[in-house]
Amino acid sequence: MPMIPYGRQSIDEDDVAAVVDVLNSDFLTQGPTVERFESAIARRTGAPGAVASNSATSSLHVAYAALGCGPGDRVWTTPITFVATANAALYCGAEVDFIDVEPETACLQVSDLADRLVRARADDCLPKVVAPVHFTGHPCDMEEIAALANEFGFYVVEDAAHAFGASINNEPVGSCQFSDACVFSFHPVKILTTGEGGAATAREPELLAKMKRLVSHGISRDPALISSNDEGPWYYEQMELGFNYRMTDIHAALGLSQMDRVDTFIEKRRALVARYEMLLADIDVIRSPIDKLTSSSWHLYVIRIPGGAGRRRVVFERLRARGLGVQVHYIPVHLQPFYQARGFSEGDFPNAEKYYAGAISLPLYPDLTTAQQDEVITILKEELAAL
Ligand SMILES: *Cc1c(COP(=O)(O)O)cnc(C)c1O
Repeated sequence: MPMIPYGRQSIDEDDVAAVVDVLNSDFLTQGPTVERFESAIARRTGAPGAVASNSATSSLHVAYAALGCGPGDRVWTTPITFVATANAALYCGAEVDFIDVEPETACLQVSDLADRLVRARADDCLPKVVAPVHFTGHPCDMEEIAALANEFGFYVVEDAAHAFGASINNEPVGSCQFSDACVFSFHPVKILTTGEGGAATAREPELLAKMKRLVSHGISRDPALISSNDEGPWYYEQMELGFNYRMTDIHAALGLSQMDRVDTFIEKRRALVARYEMLLADIDVIRSPIDKLTSSSWHLYVIRIPGGAGRRRVVFERLRARGLGVQVHYIPVHLQPFYQARGFSEGDFPNAEKYYAGAISLPLYPDLTTAQQDEVITILKEELAAL
């Protein structure tokens, strides 16, 4: 019996044809398809522009860098995220700190952020950037975070790796209504895929232009930016130290084709979540509030097993043994050995640690059939009853 994974891509014949078209075209990279994909992201999110890259990790790095993060600066995020949200700040030479999460949603706890900001102002160590993570696709309280950004003077970069297609007050995540930049991931388990890939949106044209330069060596050909225009048509200038973080046209073609089905993907995810909610209603697990059923993109469906980490481990191992590719999102970043060596320790962020101790992500992806979902529920019920 093959594993039912916790997440996987949905690929159709149009996707395959779109990729083959690029393979048969003149440009495999630096051709026209990346810009078409960027325009499609901008249209879908309502942002004035988007900058594609080879991963969300790269997009986080260029977003932080373009906002001026460097040595002596601080980036704050939450521990319930993938390590990349924090690592990208270290790539800039900045320092990382964490804000605890809400116990129910594992999204940034605004009250904790506000307390920490007051203390940081007194100690003259305010963050340059706060990076809230729309964990599972559930949007953070961006209006309140934006109000704090205004009061305390920091930039906001949304880690929306889970949240393509999610919305806040009926506006798409990525419009940057309440942030300076917003980053998406197109890894195969995420809402839409390019294989590997990411993108950042922003409202400020200068920030977009800077991120665009940083994904390609810091080089510009824009006559308005370069100092010397009379050398010849080949001329470009390196304006800052950038990277080769470019997305290829092959990847962009897949993303562009997938974009046509984003709404369908999310509708299917929502329908499956509604079904999980119904079928798990009488089971002894903790479910997150789903008041944001229609504003979340539902990248993940996380249940929490009460009774502590030992009990969660038993359930997890039994589900895996029965062919369910369940996963845990996430090991709190501050507990990684690398971050513990930088001064963090157990007990620093109790809500995050408590969430982690119970969490199991159940299978959720557009092509999960209701028969497979029933199998997940049956196995889960049996294993919980056998505890
Ligand atoms: C997947 C993910 C990333 C990294 O995305 P890549 O495209 O794999 O680099 C960053 N943050 C979060 C919350 C993620 O889930």
